[in-house]
Amino acid sequence: MNTYKSVLLKLSGRFLNSREYIKNLAEVVKEVKRETSMAILVGGGNILRGRDFASKGRMRMTADLMGMYATVINGIFITEIFNETGIDTVHLSSLRGKYAEPYEPAIAMEYMGKKVVILSGGTGSPFFSTDTAAVLRGCELGVDVVIKGTDVDGVYSGDPKLNQAEKFSKITYKEIVSRELKVMDLTATALAWEFSLPIVVINMEKPENLKRVLKGENIGTFIGRENG
Ligand code: UDP
Repeated sequence: MNTYKSVLLKLSGRFLNSREYIKNLAEVVKEVKRETSMAILVGGGNILRGRDFASKGRMRMTADLMGMYATVINGIFITEIFNETGIDTVHLSSLRGKYAEPYEPAIAMEYMGKKVVILSGGTGSPFFSTDTAAVLRGCELGVDVVIKGTDVDGVYSGDPKLNQAEKFSKITYKEIVSRELKVMDLTATALAWEFSLPIVVINMEKPENLKRVLKGENIGTFIGRENG
């Protein structure tokens, strides 16, 4: 039995340039979705990050809007490949357009469990990240956990590339804030903390890690209220 009945996977845009990667992910999702309802909220950093783009002189709001559309591009791509591989998938977006159904929490909840739900457009507002969007949507959809899929193995006390950095298997929201750990932006951490929504950070370079964490394997870092 999978540990969680419903999850929201936040998938960084860095994985979404590759058709091959998405196909491999689809195979894993096919398996896990038998026991777990899945929503996947896609990032857009492979195409554009508002903060970086704005630093080159653009208005932050314009840059963030472009960043949100970058997530839509990823949403269109992953939805197409998932559907091609036989996974019943629906794309809901915070930005309105012909490419996806408009995101509404009640509609998304209807779909959860019946289809894999791809969420794009972040929160639909500038000055946020897709990590914050993932926690917000996770709260709205009442998922058991948000899984943050990234390219490091979990939360570290410092730069994971440096040997002295220690990896946490569990950590509290409070410690993340007080140690100023760079795992997620402050807004995302604070929101998860306020609503006690657990977050598990895993390395999604290998899509099988999603299956492993759902089977209860102690990989990555669990973020919650208690450290024990
Ligand atoms: N973004 C935004 N509001 C949101 C979510 C995202 O304005 O609610 C913009 C922001 O500019 C961000 C970009 O979309 O940099 C892409 O998202 P993100 O950087 O979180 O993608 P990831 O790093 O996870 O691939």
